[in-house]
Amino acid sequence: MAITPLVMGNWKMNGRAQSLAEFLQTVVTVEGAEAALCPPAVYLAQAASSGLSIGAQDVSAEKGGARTGELSAAMLKDIGCDYAIVGHSERREYHAESNELVAAKAAAAVAEGLVPVFCVGETLAQREAGQVEQVIAEQLAPLLKLPQVMAAAVVAYEPVWAIGTGKTASSSDAQQVHAFIRTQYAAVDAKIAAALRILYGGSVKPDNAMELCAMPDINGALVGGASLEAASFNQIIQAAAASSAV
Ligand code: PEP
Repeated sequence: MAITPLVMGNWKMNGRAQSLAEFLQTVVTVEGAEAALCPPAVYLAQAASSGLSIGAQDVSAEKGGARTGELSAAMLKDIGCDYAIVGHSERREYHAESNELVAAKAAAAVAEGLVPVFCVGETLAQREAGQVEQVIAEQLAPLLKLPQVMAAAVVAYEPVWAIGTGKTASSSDAQQVHAFIRTQYAAVDAKIAAALRILYGGSVKPDNAMELCAMPDINGALVGGASLEAASFNQIIQAAAASSAV
């Protein structure tokens, strides 16, 4: 089954209204790839007026109430979001998000019609200890107990040691983990597994995007630093589209 690649920019806590306006004027959409942007939440409405798909960088697991500072899936839907990233390694590290909480956030997103982008990935110490598959399986486990949520989700493999470091997993190492993720899905439901979009994230740049996206189980990219400049983001979108065309 042909899967349209998704290239998603995660601006994290970067950018301002002016730089976003300039970015939106320069970013391109191309046939053969979907482009999505996750700016800081206060700029989501501004980004939603562009032709890009829009995602939040996080979503609450709760529907509403006494959760100061959090945003519900329904609110994000109201403002025009299509996606919500859940379980980014920075949220897992700095906000102590557990695998169970991340799955609950994914479920809250799906309940309101948002597509969760469910991030998994190992640290360098875990990779060196030969624990990659064990860590990924543990991170996926609570999601795989929720058939409707896993069916709706995108999974992003982001090795923690590759995020913002300039180090990228080799395309064959990344492919190996992506294939493992699809196998974990297939053990629950082969049809859902075949249609699953699995993004790679970790220092994706214009010069490595084509090789990564050409791998059979890599269906696009989650891009941090290189998404801040429209020129490099455009080149990654074009590389993803070109790789899916071969
Ligand atoms: C990310 O934050 O999801 C990411 C992959 O960042 P970078 O591309 O900068 O490594």
